[in-house]
Amino acid sequence: MPDTSIRPLALLVVVQVLLIGGVLLWAALGFPLPAAITGAGASTTPAAAAASSSSSSLAPRPTANRFDATRAFALLREQVTRYGWRPAGSDALRRLARRLRSLLPRGRLETVPGHPGLRNVAGSIPGRGKAILVGAHYDVEAAPEGFVGANDGAAGTAAVVWLARALERAPRRKGDRPVRFVLFDGEEEPLGCPDAEFRECGLRGSKAYAKRHAGSVHSVVLLDYIAEKRGLSFVRETSSNEGMWRKLRRAARDVGVGRLFAPGDAGFGVLDDHTPFLQRGIPAIDIIDFDYPQRDSLQDTLDTVSQRSLDAVGEAVYLLVTRLRRQG
Ligand SMILES: [Zn+2]
Repeated sequence: MPDTSIRPLALLVVVQVLLIGGVLLWAALGFPLPAAITGAGASTTPAAAAASSSSSSLAPRPTANRFDATRAFALLREQVTRYGWRPAGSDALRRLARRLRSLLPRGRLETVPGHPGLRNVAGSIPGRGKAILVGAHYDVEAAPEGFVGANDGAAGTAAVVWLARALERAPRRKGDRPVRFVLFDGEEEPLGCPDAEFRECGLRGSKAYAKRHAGSVHSVVLLDYIAEKRGLSFVRETSSNEGMWRKLRRAARDVGVGRLFAPGDAGFGVLDDHTPFLQRGIPAIDIIDFDYPQRDSLQDTLDTVSQRSLDAVGEAVYLLVTRLRRQG
């Protein structure tokens, strides 16, 4: 998992969201007497249950079709079912790294100095000037044992690979920036690292990559927790670059999925693989739906994610990256 830098604030935001949700539900029910909702959590009322199973909580269907969501979702599924629990340093992750390398354009493995056995998987499309980096982490939590990370790990990884393959086929203009696709190893903290120390012991692959390549990176688009089946929604975590986030929202609107991106910001920042780049002055955004009930649990499984959600994010990011590499 990435870590919120201010946990109490995160809780506050969740409470606010629940309160606002409750008021909206109340309004939707025609403002019944308070007795009708007191004593029951808003999420357990029949009306709420009906709302959460209606199609309105599913991601919008994009109007563009440049991202191959079918094959991306197959790769998400493959990571979970064929490689299973695959924490940093495991044999399963080493096998997955080779598989991912074979799928990325100009794919290669890069060691992570100071962490023997860890490797970032990187691909690239050539261009001029500093590169747009599109990234995700491909390792999963070392604990609990058996964690498969359908949303936290597999979803972002699958999207990055199929964005790479779509962008590689797209016509390239003279002067377009290069695009790099990096799947980071060792995002999750190793066993024995306390929550409060995530900043120190997590993000191993991205720290190494940023240290080595920061000089050639223009900006970073990171994908994490992007395929939740119901209730997918993104707010800007406060460390994400505002200008890039505006461009993301515009791209999302232009492919018909604008409602995925709520106005305002999350009120808290997230530590994730974009952080080492931010610390080096490189603009970056983290596209992360942190409000995922199965987060960091054995329930982060295939039934909580969907191809439809993956498609909505994939199409928006495809357009965003297409524009970023052209806008200089
Ligand atoms: Zn993650």
